[in-house]
Amino acid sequence: MTQVLILLGAPGAGKGTQAARLCAARSLAHISTGDLFRENLKKETPLGKRAKGFMDAGQLVPDDLVLEMLFDRVAKPDCQRGYLLDGFPRTIPQAEALEKRLGKPARVTVLSLVVPEQVLIDRLTGRRTCKACNHIQHMLFSPPKVAGRCDKCGGELVQRSDDSLEVVKKRLDVYRAQTQPLEGFYSSRKLLLEIDGNRPEEQVFRDLERRAFGGEAA
Ligand code: AMP
Repeated sequence: MTQVLILLGAPGAGKGTQAARLCAARSLAHISTGDLFRENLKKETPLGKRAKGFMDAGQLVPDDLVLEMLFDRVAKPDCQRGYLLDGFPRTIPQAEALEKRLGKPARVTVLSLVVPEQVLIDRLTGRRTCKACNHIQHMLFSPPKVAGRCDKCGGELVQRSDDSLEVVKKRLDVYRAQTQPLEGFYSSRKLLLEIDGNRPEEQVFRDLERRAFGGEAA
């Protein structure tokens, strides 16, 4: 049976960081729709060109574009055993489309990372991403050893264009209006597990792993 983990949470809640750790620990494919869009932007594909305006404005990319890209991705062989969705679904229609596509046989767990709003703003505006390896650092919480350079590979650290204060505020508004209702959607299906994401990364990781997998061996 395919195991599907869904990681919910506002922008800056730590989904990307925790998703990477969970996937490494549990051999799951990590599917980040935000990363998929950024790859398409970088390669200047038709999809990337259509998504760019929405992303730059802090808005959601229309559901039909997201769904086509996502369903293509999860059809790949590395997703057969299981995968983790990071940044998807973001709207009720996306969640309904996923539910329809998965049908009964999948084992779905929804983990929601809960973090206060001011903490989200501080985290996002200080975030820097390595252009070469996507490693994430923070100007206050994990400052680079060499200014502007990734601690892991030495690549250039850049601020995502949508991590500026103005766009961050817009993204949080969009999150509240369009994505937060998913908590009710999954809670009514008894699939929602809430996790306090305002703690050190290691503690959040251990809690997520325990809640998602119980005592199951990796
Ligand atoms: P993220 O890296 O998850 O914060 O995503 C960055 C941007 O990509 C978002 O602000 C949206 O514009 C777009 N995006 C990512 N995932 C989705 C999704 N599931 N639905 C709509 N837009 C998305």
